[in-house]
Amino acid sequence: MNCAICKATIEQTFLNKIIGTYVKKDSKRHVVCFACQKKLPHKELVEKL
Ligand SMILES: [Zn+2]
Repeated sequence: MNCAICKATIEQTFLNKIIGTYVKKDSKRHVVCFACQKKLPHKELVEKL
């Protein structure tokens, strides 16, 4: 699984939870890594998807 913005590989915990977040756009779920989530406000995340 890769970040939809920076394409970095997204790690998963042993419980299969991603180290990052899901951002919904056009009723599709995109995965965004923790670094991008911290760096960009939600609005900008959606714009970059
Ligand atoms: Zn990223």
